[in-house]
Amino acid sequence: MYIVFLGAPGAGKGTQATSVAKEFGLVSIASGDLFRQAVVRGDELGKKVKEYMAKGVLVPSEITVQMVLNKLDAPESLNGVIFDGFPRNLKQAEALDEALKKQNKKIDKVVYIKVEEKELVRRLGGRWVCHSCQAPCTIEGILAIEQRKCRKCGGELYQRPDDNRETIKNRLKVYFTETAPLIEYYRQSGRLIEVEGEGNVEEITKRINSALRKKAII
Ligand code: AMP
Repeated sequence: MYIVFLGAPGAGKGTQATSVAKEFGLVSIASGDLFRQAVVRGDELGKKVKEYMAKGVLVPSEITVQMVLNKLDAPESLNGVIFDGFPRNLKQAEALDEALKKQNKKIDKVVYIKVEEKELVRRLGGRWVCHSCQAPCTIEGILAIEQRKCRKCGGELYQRPDDNRETIKNRLKVYFTETAPLIEYYRQSGRLIEVEGEGNVEEITKRINSALRKKAII
């Protein structure tokens, strides 16, 4: 029960991975969240990755693979994992396949959440994230201070520093050149489930859950 969530920044991988992980009793490993936590801690890893993240380019694969594989080896990952935002290029995908193979495991399915570029730009440009529960929401325009509250838990909302126009452009460019080729990599090995990622969040979750059940892997 090892699943990869693939899709562009803003496709909804994090939101969907959290719901699907809960539904199937899996752990979600989000490489972007792990890096952001390291930056907040200000530790060695955080210092190393900060610049890459601010520019919207990929952190070198050696650093990323080691961090994710450490998490994979943790006891809570034994029942299965959803990888959110990892792998992001062929090198990482091969390293993941290899590491799992050594443990007689494999990536069972890859959920590719498909969203048009125009919609990705709209979502990222208006994305606010809750400090407390990490839930994202898209709001167009500038918010008054008193409105910056999470609809789910009432926590403070903030905008990610890499959700600015220039960095969004870079992140999408990096996605289309380095990450999108993984769609074919996983399709060719028969592991790809393609899901339409536009529309109601709960509907998309249902689509993913039922596609995973249909493939009878859980
Ligand atoms: P995300 O939250 O997934 O959008 O990731 C935020 C940033 O973290 C990215 O723009 C990259 O700089 C870095 N990052 C996250 N995951 C990876 C990965 N698998 N490989 C390299 N860099 C990553």
